[in-house]
Order: sequence, then C-alpha cells, then structure tokens
Amino acid sequence: MYVCGPTVDNSPHLGHGRLAIVFDLLRRHLERRGVEVVMVQNITDVDDKIIDRARRSGMSPVEVAREFEAAWFSALDRLGILRPTKSPRATEWISQMIGMIVEMIDSGSAYRISDGVYLSVDRVEGYPRLSRQDREELLAGARVEVLEEKRSPLDFALWKLVGAEEYGFESPWGWGRPGWHTECVAMSLGLLGEGFDLHGGGMDLVFPHHENEWAQASVLGKRFCRHWMHNGLVEMGGEKMSKSIGNTMSLTEALDRYGARPLRLAYLRAQYRSPLEMGEPVLEESERALERIDDFIRRAQGAEPAVPTPKIEEFATALDDDLDTPRAFAVLFEAVRAGNIALDTGESERARYLADSVAGMLGWVGIGTERLVLSDEVKDLVTRRERAKAERDYATADQIRSHLGEMGYLLKDTRDGPVISRA
Ligand SMILES: [Zn+2]
Repeated sequence: MYVCGPTVDNSPHLGHGRLAIVFDLLRRHLERRGVEVVMVQNITDVDDKIIDRARRSGMSPVEVAREFEAAWFSALDRLGILRPTKSPRATEWISQMIGMIVEMIDSGSAYRISDGVYLSVDRVEGYPRLSRQDREELLAGARVEVLEEKRSPLDFALWKLVGAEEYGFESPWGWGRPGWHTECVAMSLGLLGEGFDLHGGGMDLVFPHHENEWAQASVLGKRFCRHWMHNGLVEMGGEKMSKSIGNTMSLTEALDRYGARPLRLAYLRAQYRSPLEMGEPVLEESERALERIDDFIRRAQGAEPAVPTPKIEEFATALDDDLDTPRAFAVLFEAVRAGNIALDTGESERARYLADSVAGMLGWVGIGTERLVLSDEVKDLVTRRERAKAERDYATADQIRSHLGEMGYLLKDTRDGPVISRA
C-alpha cells in the first residue's frame, strides 16, 4: 500500500494522527489475517510552505524539512504507529519525476509554457474520474484564475520554473521544482510497481491530489492502484480543524495531556470514513472508557487462568468488514461488562477468560494493556499496608496509601485485594 505522507513544514496535528492510526489499523489487521504488507509512505520535503517557513526562520528548506520530519516520526512513535516499510523523500526522487515528465511531453500529454510544464487533462480519459465531479462545474470554478497559456484551466503543473536564487533543481526545462502530484506517482509505481494494491490518504486528498496522480499514471499508460481508501477528517467543536479557525491541537500536546492509549481509542471508535470529533470531551470520555477496561483487566488478573483460547474472532470479523471499529468496540465493551458481572458473581475463570479476550482485542489494534512494573519499594509499601490493615492499624494504612499517592500511584481496595494503578 502507498499512503500519502506529510508535508514537513510544521508539527503534526490531530488530523495527521488520524491518517496514521487508520492505516496502522489496516496494516495491523491485514498482518494479523496473514497478509504480508509492504507500506510506503512518502515525505514531501519540497513544497512552497516549507520554503516560506525557511525564509521566515532563517533556516534552509532542507533544515526545516528534516526538523519536521523528525517531529513527525517522534510523534508517531509515541502514538505507537508502526514505521512504514519505506519512507521515501520527494527530493530523492527528482530524476525519476523528470523522466516521467519527459515521457508525458513526448507523448503529447504534457506541454511547456512560460512558467513550467503542465499536464493536459483533455488527454486523460474521463477526467475527473476519481472525485466524480462535474467537469463543466469544475471548469466554471477554475476559470477565475486561469493562466492564458494553459490549454485548459484544469491543467495542472508537473514542473514549476523558479528563479536561480530560489530552492530548486536542474531540469531539461530549467531550474525549478516538481509539482506535488508528480512525486507520489513516481514513488508509488517506482517502489511498489504497476497495479499495486491500495492507495490511501485523507479525504481531502481525493481532489485534486489523487485525481491528478491517477491522471498522470493513465497518460503514462501505467496501471495504477487497484483500490483507493480515504479516511474522514478530524473536527474540533463541530468544525473541520483548520489553522485559520484556530481549532487545532498538535499531536504532541494531545500525547502530553492524554497519553497514547486514550488517544488511539478515541481515533478508533469512529469508523474510519466518518468525520471524527476530537475535542477535550471526546478525549476525556476515551480516558474514562479505557479506565473501565483497565480496571476490569486488573480485577480479573488475580482470577483463575483461563483454559480456552481468548475469544477475539468476533472483534476481528467486525474489522474484516471495512474496518468496522464501532462494531468491534461494541464487542469489546460487552466483554468488559460481562466480565465485571462474572467477577461480581464469583465466576473467576470466566472473568479471566474474558479479560484475556479483551487484552487480545486491544493488542489486535495496537492499544495494548497497561502492565505496571512495580518497584520493590512500592511492593513493600503495599505489603506493609496490608499488614497494617490486618492489624486494624488504619492510621498507618491511610498514611501508606497517601504516600503511594505522592509517588504517583492510586491504590484501591477491591474484594480481590488491593489494586494499584498510575494515578
Ligand atoms: Zn500523495
């Protein structure tokens, strides 16, 4: 699969996190189902936004791009996203892009004008195909900012000529930079070959980016991807997240405030194609939901080990159906509910079996269970407190509990004994 990656001009925000989570989910699910996955995700490291930022900050475009590429990987590592098999940078594929553009000019599908090279959409069968828009309407909208020399207002740049003092690359048409839509065609076909299985990205990439990628592959006579998959966008306060409205949150900030697991759960509870509201209430609700799951697993841990294999097939089957995470998580929460009832009615073996199942489901989608590794000091404090309680020395017991609190641990007494978690 080829998934369009970030333009590295800024730190990743919550919208980028969703893209990463959705395709990480698809990859993990396919791998669990025995499918070998090769995932390519590009890094767009040449772009006007990167160059603007470089100009403002006194850095070079390459320095800006490397800094935010590192920020991208570090945020995604924290979120628990598997690294792509390959992460090619656009700037490392310039010669392949030039080769493609030469071919498109030679076949009469692309042409050179004063400011660059353009693809002639009239040469593309059925354009626009992917976004299924009305061509006349598109034309009407595009005429406003039309460049006289373009054959059609819908024609898009494959190569943009820039001044010699600007960041750019040598080409047969002069110093310039590639158009954004060209890099993904070069890298996807170059690394995965014709007719690769799946091309993914955010819903906002359908037009023009993916439409125009497909247009290039088609005039090159190449079979492109067999499937397209697009994830819905993230909203905050009921509106699409955007810098102009100011309703964005950086992924790092969200990770600092909530941690990776509640964040992953919040992303996954919506089906990947629907819009997703990601404000504070959603993240706090996700924190509470995860607490319920963790509490149950902790309570069941002392129970008899389960004999049968944990039941995760129902969960996985829901994911087989276009990654139906709402249905999958309904199965999970039902298991938590049934497991808590089993604990309350003393069916400890069944509780343990359900806890193992829930842990298996979480693991399937990369959330993982919280396993606390306790220091000897903490274990000793818990033992001393149990002893104090047995001796009815409640003052000491309370003192130890608040001491544990100061150390960042929450201690709860349950019918199965003391349960400790991160406060
Ligand atoms: Zn792309």
